[in-house]
Amino acid sequence: MIIFDALDKLPREQIAFLPTPCYPLLRFADELGGPEIWIKRDDQTGLATGGNKTRKLEYLMGAALEAGADCVITAGSTQSNHARQTAAAARACGLIPHLVLYAPGGQPPDEIQGNVLLDTLMGAQIHWTEEKAPYAGSMARLTAELRVQGMNPYVIPYGGSNEIGMMGYVDAMREAVVQLGEGGVTHVFATSSGGTQAGMLLGSVLTGTAATSRVIGISVDEQAGVLAPRVADLVNRGGALLGFKWEVTSVDPAIEIVDDYLGGGYAVVGEPERHAIRMLAETEGILVDPVYTGRALAGLIDMVERGTIKDDQPVVFWHTGGTISLTAFSDVLLR
Ligand SMILES: *Cc1c(COP(=O)(O)O)cnc(C)c1O
Repeated sequence: MIIFDALDKLPREQIAFLPTPCYPLLRFADELGGPEIWIKRDDQTGLATGGNKTRKLEYLMGAALEAGADCVITAGSTQSNHARQTAAAARACGLIPHLVLYAPGGQPPDEIQGNVLLDTLMGAQIHWTEEKAPYAGSMARLTAELRVQGMNPYVIPYGGSNEIGMMGYVDAMREAVVQLGEGGVTHVFATSSGGTQAGMLLGSVLTGTAATSRVIGISVDEQAGVLAPRVADLVNRGGALLGFKWEVTSVDPAIEIVDDYLGGGYAVVGEPERHAIRMLAETEGILVDPVYTGRALAGLIDMVERGTIKDDQPVVFWHTGGTISLTAFSDVLLR
């Protein structure tokens, strides 16, 4: 296909273990009672404990190396999975990782756990900030500082969500269609900065599966009304990058964002997340994380119970990673 030719011509570094496994969750589905449920193990992409950002980083690192960068800058919250995967990807490509991380008061946390521990072990240069997403000011200041020092930084937006990063999920959809066939499937996953959802949506159109499939992002931190324009914009930019004219607006029914499971807010673990984490762990021996995949799985469980996800076609739950942060949440998980 012409469109995938354009994708395959983009600079890309091979850093992920692909394809990731995709298989049915028999015991979990049996306990839930409802549709066939499959899991796509994007937590097993291999890069320093894996996750969905690794797919995006294959294209982002390709672009960074092509630009002749010697270091990369990105940003995220304290326990950012994206920042940790970026640090690992940078090291794997011989670049120096600079991470702008949010913490209250811009002060490093008392305990270095989970992702921050991994960032530290990889020798990432951590710059603490109290600026919140999208961290534009802090990243711009750091870029200027590094340039003054004679460095050539490549800036990756938070979540790796731009038209380049999202290509990782256009490719992931192509991969999933090979594993699952071209029949209708309901894709369910955690959505946050929007690149995963935008890539999957564009990928579903390019693979010809959009008409029969659903791509449902369960928001972990933002109202649908805030996130939908961002996803639409990314889809349109990604399409343009591939020379494909499929324009969407934020109210296009293809952009399904569910914001019913925000609970107490981003990274606030409640009973639904605790239940979902235990249920998958006890039925399948698979761990999801407290912030993203635990919340998305809790949403999936509720939507099946309410009948908003029906049993007319298989569901694929995309495990996007993050389990390394479980130990940083032990107090709220054991409540
Ligand atoms: C970043 C992340 C997501 C969300 O992906 P976006 O592309 O930012 O929407 C989901 N799950 C995990 C574990 C993540 O780290």
